[in-house]
Amino acid sequence: MANYFQPEIETASREKIVEIQNEKIVKQVKHVYENVEYYRKLMDENGVKPEDIKSIDDIKKLPFLSKADLREAYPYGLLGTDLKNCVRIHSTSGTTGKRVVAFYTQADVDLWEDCCARAIVAAGGSKDDVCQVAYGYGLFTGGAGLHGGSHKVGCLTLPMSSGNTDRQIQFMMDLQATFLCCTPSYAAYIGETLAEKGYKPEDNKLKAGIFGAEPWTEEMRHQIEESLGIKAYDIYGLTESSGPGVAFECSAQSGMHINEDHFYAEVIDPETGETLPEGSKGELVFTSLDKEAFPLLRYRTRDICILSREKCSCGRTHVKMTKPMGRSDDMLIIRGVNVFPSQIETVLINEGYTPNYQIIVGRENNTDTLDINVELLPEQFSDKVSVIQSMEKSLAGAMRTMLGIGPKIHLVPSKSIVRSEGKAVRVIDNRKLHDMS
Ligand code: ADP
Ligand code: ZN
Repeated sequence: MANYFQPEIETASREKIVEIQNEKIVKQVKHVYENVEYYRKLMDENGVKPEDIKSIDDIKKLPFLSKADLREAYPYGLLGTDLKNCVRIHSTSGTTGKRVVAFYTQADVDLWEDCCARAIVAAGGSKDDVCQVAYGYGLFTGGAGLHGGSHKVGCLTLPMSSGNTDRQIQFMMDLQATFLCCTPSYAAYIGETLAEKGYKPEDNKLKAGIFGAEPWTEEMRHQIEESLGIKAYDIYGLTESSGPGVAFECSAQSGMHINEDHFYAEVIDPETGETLPEGSKGELVFTSLDKEAFPLLRYRTRDICILSREKCSCGRTHVKMTKPMGRSDDMLIIRGVNVFPSQIETVLINEGYTPNYQIIVGRENNTDTLDINVELLPEQFSDKVSVIQSMEKSLAGAMRTMLGIGPKIHLVPSKSIVRSEGKAVRVIDNRKLHDMS
């Protein structure tokens, strides 16, 4: 049976959703124009006045905001309300450069936590659950978002934060956690550690996990589901639009519903900025329809995905986004070929390897080099050099088929690649270091 946290909104008719969006966008554009000097200037430069925005369709008239704008306006330039009305800040994890600081009023925190509560309920959560939150607490939005959502649902919340894996496992077992929330790479690590300690998947009481904040493949999902004996659900978000919970997966596990009453999504051509029709692959752009303190309009996420309005079996009516297919700035260009780390992960798991890997890109004699370190499971290890060499060759062949270029594979002993407790560092691009020097 489908369960919703806010059924009247989550299953609202399309007309109703558009009505909500029309009403909110008019108010929001006025609010931003009056309160955010940085954006008012942008609108003036583009010749748009708040009166020009009469419905959600008029949103195309507004200028985009980019991460560069956020950096330029740091720290207070995009604040939409007096600092006195703010109760919290969070900051990006700085995966791609200088951190962005986002502000929240109490109303902003409330709507964000509602979104996370919707995600927990969509994954089958209720007040009978024990929810272990192993996302980092602090400036990072992961811990705070799921913590707040778990409270709203009424779960017994275990505010573990990330790290200290032995203690995570002890609390998981002793306090019978039924939900686990963390990054997918940390979930994989917890699964691996449980197995090492001799636990079988059925020994824990977990039934579901909510994993996000970084890209992960379907193959990785299956591996986590098997190692923990759970259903693994995806959750998406970014600090700029609150944090996790902007979109979440339902029982259908085929894309994430975007909370359209709070976030209006568009997909654009990243080169031309043109809005693309439903079903096209492009860059996701978000407008916060009712956030007060950090009300970003048409913010370019750089995440590449496809939107779909196909009817969903869960009964939710909000638009779905595919898993982000990598950020536009995650994509590596190696010898002129576009390579996404997710393609490498897919090959590894299909070929029976662990998702413990590191991609090292370099440059020798003006040619790009691609090396991939891949950890072996203890049972895959062989002390015969010829066996290891032939495994490396075969994996390099599978990579070449997928990527179009052949990497050098290095099979390394179990546990030799540093495990991540938050977002995994998959790529070391030594070319960038050289460029900067
Ligand atoms: P940073 O940009 O420093 O990583 P955030 O912590 O706010 O800052 O991370 C937001 C980004 O994380 C998103 O723009 C997206 O690229 C990535 N992300 C978040 N959730 C997911 C997910 N479920 N799948 C893939 N990528 C995700
Ligand atoms: Zn659904």
